[in-house]
Amino acid sequence: MDFDDRLERRHVLAAMEKIKQEDVPERAQSTKYDVLHPDDGRPFPPKLVLSIAAELATGEPLPRTKFTGGEQTNARLRALGFEVVPKVATSGPVTLDALRPGDVLTNDQLSRLFGVGNAGGMRWSGSQGRLVVIADHTKSLYDDRWEDDVLHYTGMGRVGDQTLTGQNQRLAEQARTGTPVHLFEVFRQNAYVYVGEVRLTGEPRRERQLDDEANERWVYVFPLALVGEAQRPVPDRRDLDRIEGNRRNVLSRASVGELVRRARLGGREQPGTRQTVVAQFERNLAVAELAKRLAEGRCDLCREPAPFSVSRVPYLECHHVVHLAQGGADTIENAVALCPNCHRRMHALDLRSDRERLLARIAARDLVMSEA
Ligand SMILES: [Zn+2]
Ligand SMILES: [Zn+2]
Repeated sequence: MDFDDRLERRHVLAAMEKIKQEDVPERAQSTKYDVLHPDDGRPFPPKLVLSIAAELATGEPLPRTKFTGGEQTNARLRALGFEVVPKVATSGPVTLDALRPGDVLTNDQLSRLFGVGNAGGMRWSGSQGRLVVIADHTKSLYDDRWEDDVLHYTGMGRVGDQTLTGQNQRLAEQARTGTPVHLFEVFRQNAYVYVGEVRLTGEPRRERQLDDEANERWVYVFPLALVGEAQRPVPDRRDLDRIEGNRRNVLSRASVGELVRRARLGGREQPGTRQTVVAQFERNLAVAELAKRLAEGRCDLCREPAPFSVSRVPYLECHHVVHLAQGGADTIENAVALCPNCHRRMHALDLRSDRERLLARIAARDLVMSEA
């Protein structure tokens, strides 16, 4: 079946909000794929999301028995700009011996495997005598940062001065006690990437940071070095982009006073670096060049002349109306030439009305092409 044209991105976002409030019915759990919330990467079952979104869009219920999951559902969600990813394996390694750096666990799997609780950045396993340390990049504004193969990890306690008690104390004494410490990093909700074992490689340092209520306080930062086969994860570029976008959202609501404090405390002479995996599309340069040529020096959206020229060629940028990342085709029928302003506008808003204008422009342009 075809999905109704009235189904838009905002309906999908509203469906996700609804599921958040009501929890997912057991039978509606997805088995193979998740669709991710664009803000925090929280996973949702694609089919359930789509059935609720379709009802919000049309006013008619769309029972989940009326359409199939899988490719059809995923393609529709991708076309609306959502990321659909294979689910974190629901079986996962069943024993600690089978766990390898790079394995991804759900929170439940992690808790079961290590015999720890299911909340907190540091979790102690009394039964196994191990400490599990989690660097969750989706949660906080300050960041645990890598410098070469050492992670500078901020201790426990989200508000007020941190103290060397509880798990902080256990980690501080690790060099002496030899307690096994297992590190996970999180780049997307409920996907815990196993880094491997780490050890304390120097004294914990005290550092000034802002807490969750934006008050300045003392924290402890623990330098943790990789042990044995442990390996720094190489996250997907899209996960890091989402984390950054989310932080930007939070900061856009902060007061100037808070921004001053954050800029002062968070500014670093030497920003940390991280390797990422980027799926790079091989674009057809002729398509891009042809789109610009057909535009004849005017932006395909606002129809104004290009704002400047480079070597006497009007400066425009090629844009794909259905983004390549969403399965759009790299063909001239999907490519337009935009001024930098409109190009940013499309990526920031991607309004349906703008897309329709571009498609109309492409259709008008086809006439020119067929005459050529
Ligand atoms: Zn323009
Ligand atoms: Zn573009």
